[in-house]
Amino acid sequence: SKARRYDQEEGQKITFNDVAGIDEAENELVEIVDFLKDPSKYTRLGGAAPKGVLLVGPPGTGKTLLAKAVAGEAGVPFFSISASEFVEMIVGVGAARVRDLFQQARDQAPSIIFIDELDAIGRARGPAAIGGSSEQEQTLNQILTEMDGFSSRQGIIVLAATNQPDVLDRALLRPGRFDRRVVVNLPDKTGREAILKVHVRNVPLAEIADLVELAAATPGFSGADLKNLVNEAALLAARRGQSEVHYKDFMDALEKIVLGPERPLLLSR
Ligand code: ATP
Repeated sequence: SKARRYDQEEGQKITFNDVAGIDEAENELVEIVDFLKDPSKYTRLGGAAPKGVLLVGPPGTGKTLLAKAVAGEAGVPFFSISASEFVEMIVGVGAARVRDLFQQARDQAPSIIFIDELDAIGRARGPAAIGGSSEQEQTLNQILTEMDGFSSRQGIIVLAATNQPDVLDRALLRPGRFDRRVVVNLPDKTGREAILKVHVRNVPLAEIADLVELAAATPGFSGADLKNLVNEAALLAARRGQSEVHYKDFMDALEKIVLGPERPLLLSR
């Protein structure tokens, strides 16, 4: 059967320039970039390079973005699947897709495989996993088999993202599988400012200094939240017929985002 396409996004190149506010996580992945650029440089003395890296952190912090940036920096193809797609699949389909995915990555190595929401299929098996379908188990087993089946010399890195590392089956975390962990936390104030700067690159601001205040006004916001905020503010300013985005637009957008969904609830009380 014909191989599927897995969101291979070679065309639109994302680099570390697009990632901000999570410097520690980024720095930990520089080594992976170096390895992908020249796998043999790492393994020529017989050492085994990493195969799997688990990106751990809350939603919207940039795990997917970071994985794409690693591929972009190294100049290698990026193949991705979201594990949640497999949950409702007919038995055997998930495993077949995993096999396909790794086959493509091998054919085009050096390359990156990205598995989003690994916990959706990577939950611990056994008595505790009641309701865990055999489909889930087969898909998980296929991932384990594939990871054991390639040599790090081939230049394939499997990155996986989760916000629930504790529920993962321990088999996934053994040496030679996802034995490295990179934490991708919510950004602090300085981080939020840096992320805002990335997302206002194409937005005309009335006052660049606004971003310092905006970062202070958005504790708990993820990178995805900040991106959304900039977008809402830009739309609002356009609707208001302005040629620049003002601090007030950001504040109004912020209010809409923070209070918006809760209003009906408050009113109904
Ligand atoms: P999820 O766990 O929900 O899949 P995630 O951690 O993979 O989330 P992304 O999908 O990478 O998060 O983030 C969504 C978008 O938000 C990104 O494409 C990017 O535009 C923006 N974003 C998130 N984090 C950052 C960041 N650290 N720097 C710049 N932009 C970011």
